[in-house]
Amino acid sequence: MFARFLAPLAAVASSIIPLVACGPAPAPIPLPTTPASGIDVQAFAKQLSKTAQIFLPNDSQFTTYTVRWSNLDAPTVNVVVLPGNEQDVSKIVQFAYQKNIPILAYNGHHGALTTLGKMDYGIAINLAQLNSLKIAKDKKTVTVGGGINSHVLTEQLWAAGKQTVTGTCECVSYLGPALGGGHGWLQGHHGLISDQFVSLNIVLATGEVKTINQSSDLMWGLKGAGHNFGIVTSVTSKIYDIEHSNWAIETIVFGGDKVEQVYDAANKHLIQNGTQSADIHQWSYWLNDATLDADKPVIVVYTMQEGVDAVDSVYTQPFKDIGPLAVTPEAGTYRDLGAWTNIALDSPPCQDFGFNNPRFPIYIKNYNGTALRAAYDLYASAISGADNPYTNSIFMFEDYATGGVRAIDDRSSAFAFRSDRVLAAPLIIYDSTGAAEDASVAKLGNQLREIIHQGTQQSELHTYVNYAYGTETTQQWYGYDAWRQERLKALKTKYDPKGKFSFYAPIL
Ligand SMILES: Cc1cc2nc3c(=O)[nH]c(=O)nc-3n(C[C@H](O)[C@H](O)[C@H](O)COP(=O)(O)OP(=O)(O)OC[C@H]3O[C@@H](n4cnc5c(N)ncnc54)[C@H](O)[C@@H]3O)c2cc1C
Repeated sequence: MFARFLAPLAAVASSIIPLVACGPAPAPIPLPTTPASGIDVQAFAKQLSKTAQIFLPNDSQFTTYTVRWSNLDAPTVNVVVLPGNEQDVSKIVQFAYQKNIPILAYNGHHGALTTLGKMDYGIAINLAQLNSLKIAKDKKTVTVGGGINSHVLTEQLWAAGKQTVTGTCECVSYLGPALGGGHGWLQGHHGLISDQFVSLNIVLATGEVKTINQSSDLMWGLKGAGHNFGIVTSVTSKIYDIEHSNWAIETIVFGGDKVEQVYDAANKHLIQNGTQSADIHQWSYWLNDATLDADKPVIVVYTMQEGVDAVDSVYTQPFKDIGPLAVTPEAGTYRDLGAWTNIALDSPPCQDFGFNNPRFPIYIKNYNGTALRAAYDLYASAISGADNPYTNSIFMFEDYATGGVRAIDDRSSAFAFRSDRVLAAPLIIYDSTGAAEDASVAKLGNQLREIIHQGTQQSELHTYVNYAYGTETTQQWYGYDAWRQERLKALKTKYDPKGKFSFYAPIL
């Protein structure tokens, strides 16, 4: 299909400089030998708006716009386009469709499924310039560009006395998490990020732009399996008045000998058989912190509460009674949550260190102390010690308030796991030495997940598509109900029959 080579890339690159102003003139590019050389950049560059930008591998900013948070099975691209507007997205997608060139939306660049590695050449459509934001006159909704960052959205709404459910982490995009369901601090009140969607503009595989509203069949699919159908160029979502600006956190750290007691207390005092209050969240991380334990990972328990200046002692005293290594209370506002929980823009998890960062997620309803002990012992033996190649790993347990998620009809969206309560995931962070190490890390991650899974005493493995490793089944990403799978397949066949949007957790 790429037999017809259209123009040497070096010539193409210089010809687009006036349009894109993209850094120093590229050095000569060797004669093409891959399908990527058939991408006629000049042809589609002419069709784009003046604000569109195009970068080729020799451009200094190419890396800026293609860097990934995780290098494991990362996608490979040969051209980056930053569309200036929705029409640009449509034109690039249409061009790629006609020429049969792979495309992928690049947003916050934190997508890490191994399925992304199937993209071995093509065009990255980086949405960074689609970052508009407009609050409706009635102040009930906001319309944002498809590339807006979660933190930017939160800050701009905050300045207007408003908020909405976004991802908790400051460096991810708004839509990346949302299209897979989307967890955030306000979900206990309002449901998932995608539950806030009122309408979306999407560019389908052919380049056609469609507005999707509540009466469209595709709305259901975009709420949970939304990476599969097109590129969302804008979205209108519900927003809310800020009822409580103040929040508090208590960070309590334990040695690994306290696993059973800590999670028994979490079951009894936080999860409470699914009646956890909407204003309280608890995360815990198992990680190495030599200042507190030189030999084994510690358990860092973050308990966050809305509308208070100190976390209610009914949630913290049972943990203090266990005998922690350290206790740190802090008070502030909603805007401090990212820094408190180590996911602010300048926190380590938000940096691109060039490491492989696979996660092995599993949703659970309650903590099983026996399973957690077995998982902790295996994890500790694998990652302990400053010289250990996995020393920076984190085993995450995210217990968000879930009442608002469960209050929404389970059949209303493609997100399938509303009745689960805690998202657990070992995240093994390492600087890969190659395929053999990648395989052994995958074995470790799957073993850790399987231990937790055994503890649920359920045969089904529920995972979060946005944390997934990549080798899970579509049932494990999108639910085991036959009707869900049928409905997703029907939508995929209708809206993306040629599988142009199938690099991220594909339905088919
Ligand atoms: C540090 C960190 C913190 C996280 N915090 C949270 C959290 O608080 N809540 C949560 O739910 N998840 C969270 N996640 C997981 C997150 O949802 C996924 O990693 C998600 O894929 C990130 O989206 P992105 O835009 O940053 O990444 P990208 O890699 O840019 O996007 C991921 C995929 O989403 C699709 N996509 C993105 N934008 C669009 C669009 N506009 N239209 C169509 N498709 C699009 C593309 O298929 C793309 O490959 C976190 C991940 C990390 C690494």
